Amino acid sequence: MTSAEACVFCGIIDGSLPSSPVVDTGTVLAFMDIDPVTPGHVLVIPKEHLPDLADLTDALAAEMMAVARRVAAALRRSDVRCDGVNLFYADGEAAFQEVFHAHLHVFPRHADDGFVIRARWGSQPPRDVLDQIAATLAASMASGEELSA
Ligand SMILES: [Zn+2]
Repeated sequence: MTSAEACVFCGIIDGSLPSSPVVDTGTVLAFMDIDPVTPGHVLVIPKEHLPDLADLTDALAAEMMAVARRVAAALRRSDVRCDGVNLFYADGEAAFQEVFHAHLHVFPRHADDGFVIRARWGSQPPRDVLDQIAATLAASMASGEELSA
């Protein structure tokens, strides 16, 4: 975990680091990624230093998604090549989170843009395995202990 003092996104928020902002709602900021997957790649972040997905409130997560939707619509209307849009959220180092300040990637897609996800799709586990995991998750959610609102 990085502290707010050492956080590159907090540096962008406080103006000590340069950025190319797209929109600032007061609590959520969207700006251009300096290492874009495709041209037009935008990052949507809370303006408060919150490292993990679980640190976001429901309201803040909803606002980030609302901004991401607006950015996606703007990309589709813009001159940026955009035949589709991906949203990508990495929570934790194992999920390829590199900056430990919550952020949602929004990037335009087009055929042959070079973006790939390597995964073992198609494992199709038996229904009882799916049911067991679903029951575990449902019980955790019913307990209300998985997150605070
Ligand atoms: Zn930060």
